[in-house]
Amino acid sequence: MERIKMTTPLVEMDGDEMTRILWKMIKDELLLPYIDLKTEYYDLGLEHRNETDDKVTMDSAEATKKYGVAVKCATITPNAARMTEYNLKEMWKSPNGTIRAALDGTVFRAPIIVKGIEPCVKNWEKPITLARHAYGDVYKNTEIKVPGAGKAELVFTAQDGTQIRETIHNFDGPGIIQGIHNTDRSITSFAKACFNYALDTKQDLWFATKDTISKKYDHNFKDIFQDIYEKEYEDKFKAAGIEYFYTLIDDAVARVMKAKGGFIWACKNYDGDVMSDMVSSAFGSLAMMTSVLVSPSGVYEYEAAHGTVQRHYYKHLKGEETSTNSVATIFAWTGALRKRGELDGNKELMQFSDKLEKATVQTIESGKMTKDLALITSLKNVTVLNSENFIKAVRETFDSLWYVM
Ligand code: NAP
Ligand code: MG
Repeated sequence: MERIKMTTPLVEMDGDEMTRILWKMIKDELLLPYIDLKTEYYDLGLEHRNETDDKVTMDSAEATKKYGVAVKCATITPNAARMTEYNLKEMWKSPNGTIRAALDGTVFRAPIIVKGIEPCVKNWEKPITLARHAYGDVYKNTEIKVPGAGKAELVFTAQDGTQIRETIHNFDGPGIIQGIHNTDRSITSFAKACFNYALDTKQDLWFATKDTISKKYDHNFKDIFQDIYEKEYEDKFKAAGIEYFYTLIDDAVARVMKAKGGFIWACKNYDGDVMSDMVSSAFGSLAMMTSVLVSPSGVYEYEAAHGTVQRHYYKHLKGEETSTNSVATIFAWTGALRKRGELDGNKELMQFSDKLEKATVQTIESGKMTKDLALITSLKNVTVLNSENFIKAVRETFDSLWYVM
């Protein structure tokens, strides 16, 4: 059979440690035999980031803007220990942060559902996709530990010198204060990314804040979403048969627990931080979570939600066997290839992505899986495979689906 041709390259961002090992195995076993893979390759491995003074990360983000679709391997975010381990010139910033800032994106995370790995919440039949606003609020705060009695004020000084002043509190003893902000521009990008992603995936969009208590701050989020929805998206949503639903955050939490799933839940920064960990743990495993960064201009970057699995990599280096789950990384590739296929009108590439995902799920449902899943599955007769043999098992399932077309 001839390999599938591609017209436009994908931006390929290679990464670090165990996921870098999986990356190559996935390409060799699951992609290159079937696709005449066209990628523009950027090595975001820490050594190469260090050699290029992190220029490679910026270049890969620029290439993503140019081509529209990227696939990224997990990368190390350097800390003090990594400075010595890799003999770094500088403690380079998180590549994900750099790419997110360059693309002005929102991150969407969705669990990969397989039979035998049941969510803790019994009524969740379909995935719940979490969209987290990744700018501002408590993550860019200013805090003061108030030493004793005194008056705390909130002051805004405009460029022309005029001021807006509000009393926060008249302290009669020690306490704490905090200043946070957000911008209409960032909230607008967040809203558009959510509306676009809902249309793209044909799922309802939920959004919630605490606007009854925060009558200006949270209310501003609610108003911007509503305004953009009415002006730009209402007709499109109706045509697609999907709904935009706003409620209070506490009501949303209660409804999510009773829901069947199959929708996108947009969250402010802190809510998204907390709720995405809750949702992903309830669905079973971080290694079964996809993650895609979507920019308001319609640029997509696909990756796995987990890190570089350092502990497994050190075992691998010692020549010991590993059983690292490659599912989220496989789905990063299929997500990116499907999007490339959609944008280029390449049906074969889209079909390939669908089948590879199906083969991955079927392999696990047949009882062949990595150790992390074996520990939580309800399936009986499980075969625990090592990193490489799991990928080979997926290939076998894939061949049985692909060559009967
Ligand atoms: P991690 O790589 O997500 O791994 C944490 C633990 O979760 C692992 O030790 C492993 O548990 C389990 N795990 C995660 N992914 C797995 C998989 N695919 N298969 C099986 N088990 C899996 O997080 P970390 O160890 O905290 O971080 C390691 C490096 O990744 C850090 O340098 C960090 O900066 C980076 N990181 C990158 C990204 C990204 O690029 N998007 C995200 C997060 C972290 P057991 O050891 O118990 O088996
Ligand atoms: Mg968190």
